[in-house]
Amino acid sequence: MLLNYQCRYCKLEATIPLDDEGLDMFQVEKFKPILCCNRCADSIVARRAVVDRIKKAVELLIIQRYSSNPDNVVVVTKNVREALTVLTKRYATLVNEYFKKPNMWHADFVDLLMDKPRYYETILKDYFRHRRVA
Ligand SMILES: [Zn+2]
Repeated sequence: MLLNYQCRYCKLEATIPLDDEGLDMFQVEKFKPILCCNRCADSIVARRAVVDRIKKAVELLIIQRYSSNPDNVVVVTKNVREALTVLTKRYATLVNEYFKKPNMWHADFVDLLMDKPRYYETILKDYFRHRRVA
C-alpha cells in the first residue's frame, strides 16, 4: 500500500510504501502529521551536522575567553574565525539550496557569531528565517 502524506516542513505531497504488517504495527493516521519528505530530511540532517560543528567552534571561543594566556587567546580566536568562515558558508549554501534561493553569505555572519557565541542558535535560526522569506 502507498501512503500519501503532506511533508510537515515544505507542505508538498509525498508518498511512502507501507506493507500490511507495518500498517498493523503503527497507527498511520497518528504519525502522518510528523512525516517529512526525503528532500527536507536530507537538508535537516546536513544542516544539523554543520550546526554541531559551529557549536563546537563557538564553545572553544567561549572557553578561551577565560584563558590566562593571551597568546592562546589570539591563536584560538584566529582558528575559530577561520573555521566559522568555512562553516557559515557551508550552512548558507545548504539553507539557500533548500529554499532554492541564490546563495548569500556575508562576513558579518562570522562577526556576529564571534561577538555573541552564546547566541549561535538564534543567529543561525534568524538566518534560516530570513532566507525563507527573502
Ligand atoms: Zn518536505
